[in-house]
Amino acid sequence: MQVVETIAGFRHLLDGTRHDGGRVGLVPTMGYLHDGHASLMRRSVADGDAVTAVTIFVNPLQFAANEDLASYPRDLDRDLALCEAAGVGVVLAPPVEEMYPEPILTTVSVAEVSARMEGATRPTHFAGVATVVSKLFNIAGPCRAYFGEKDFQQLAVVTKMARDLNFPVEVVGCPIVREPDGLAMSSRNVYLDEHERRAATVLWAALQRGAAVIEAGERSPAAIVDALVATVGSEPRATLDYAELVDPATLAPCAEPLASGQEVRLLVAAQVGRPRLLDNLGVTVP
Ligand code: AMP
Repeated sequence: MQVVETIAGFRHLLDGTRHDGGRVGLVPTMGYLHDGHASLMRRSVADGDAVTAVTIFVNPLQFAANEDLASYPRDLDRDLALCEAAGVGVVLAPPVEEMYPEPILTTVSVAEVSARMEGATRPTHFAGVATVVSKLFNIAGPCRAYFGEKDFQQLAVVTKMARDLNFPVEVVGCPIVREPDGLAMSSRNVYLDEHERRAATVLWAALQRGAAVIEAGERSPAAIVDALVATVGSEPRATLDYAELVDPATLAPCAEPLASGQEVRLLVAAQVGRPRLLDNLGVTVP
């Protein structure tokens, strides 16, 4: 596995792979890696990418001033060991000055899909994400890029951006990896104390409750969302940010009664102690 800090070095290695006829798999991350990240790397390897390339970069542009940029957890040595074990060929771990050598005047923003949910709570977040991902796509060149459904709205934003701007990149969404008790793996779970860690399972409980009421025959979007809200509300350590039932392609809230065979996505975000936690679940209406 080769570890590089420069854009030029990373490009050179990936150009070499393509020159030899191999496909590049790209896994963008902010580090402090866990098995959710590793699942994206393993997917790239399993899909036959000639080289799986991981980027580890805590992107200042996607953090607001009041957020956890300075304290975001970091452990590069451990991250590199995880990458190596997952079969990664190249890692780009650039310093901030390499990615942003001068103040950036150009940004990418994706309307509509960015507007609600995470975008409502964090108004500058998705422009920061879309801008750094477009830089990474331009740096990596033609590839398949793997993103987790854990950040379902981010996956929708990046997919739309790649289509709208003709990036030579195929965006691949991958399933959420969970702890044994259902909590979605996240680098920010490290902020939870023992009590909050137990309380954090309420997000998964809410999603399962939402799926269960759909399974039991409920077709009213408002009633399904109420079930999510009530479940999160039952946990005193959790403060609900949003609970939504949306069309998975457009992220528009479901307004009409659900129809048999329809694909929907349940999403929740809640503050549990210090971190804001996100989770979501896809359901096919029976
Ligand atoms: P991050 O380091 O949080 O920016 O995440 C990097 C990538 O890993 C994103 O595409 C995330 O959606 C994905 N990811 C994070 N957690 C998980 C998880 N529990 N399961 C699957 N993918 C994940």
